[in-house]
Amino acid sequence: MNILVSNDDGIDSPGIYSLASALKEIAEVTVVAPHQEQSAAGHAITMQLPLRVTKYYRDKEFFGYAVNGTPADCVKMGIRNILGFYPDLVVSGINNGSNTAINIIYSGTVSAAREAAIMDVPSIAVSVTSHNVKDFSFAARIAKNLSLAVAERGLMKGTLLNVNVPNIPESEIAGIRITKQGKSRWDDIYEKRTDPFGRDYYWLTGNLKQEDNETDMDQGAVKNKFVSITPIHFDLTDYETYNLMKDWNLEHLVNEK
Ligand code: MN
Repeated sequence: MNILVSNDDGIDSPGIYSLASALKEIAEVTVVAPHQEQSAAGHAITMQLPLRVTKYYRDKEFFGYAVNGTPADCVKMGIRNILGFYPDLVVSGINNGSNTAINIIYSGTVSAAREAAIMDVPSIAVSVTSHNVKDFSFAARIAKNLSLAVAERGLMKGTLLNVNVPNIPESEIAGIRITKQGKSRWDDIYEKRTDPFGRDYYWLTGNLKQEDNETDMDQGAVKNKFVSITPIHFDLTDYETYNLMKDWNLEHLVNEK
């Protein structure tokens, strides 16, 4: 099995090292990741600047390829230029910080996996629900075991798995839930500060408004100490409205002056 590993925290982050190490137990692993942190880069791709690939060494040992682009760039280039073939699986992470609910939209971690799904490669995004993770080993083991399950069963075309692991001791984990994307959103705060020249500037912070408490929702599951696995898709069509709008009979819009 061939697995391409990427992330959004950057190639030197501890999460990607834990992930790659665990996956090397079951597969040939190639790491292609941003050379600098790209958290909240979403699904951006680089079109106005040249992309460069450099070899990244960890303790004098070759670890992977660093790209001066986004997570989505890394997966596209990783498959097309660095591997030169389609891997069996792409795994992204392990991210510092949860990617539940609306965070899925902003997340570079999820976008790397979503880019793989667009390229018809099964993929998994893995995050731990804290920005100060001390130990990624449990999440890495979940990633490894889920990779084996996906390799065995496959995924529907265009589908990826978004995994969130609570940042608690392994002995406190309640279990695993297959979940839906939650409704929790951010109460954004643009904190106003003043620079040394007396000019105002703003720095984004905020609080996640917990709106999911049920364990069949991603944010609710991790709050209740479950590992959350959400199948998601890049098809953004709202099928309910698609069906409803057929009855709107909008043909007249074309002719009305
Ligand atoms: Mn990140």
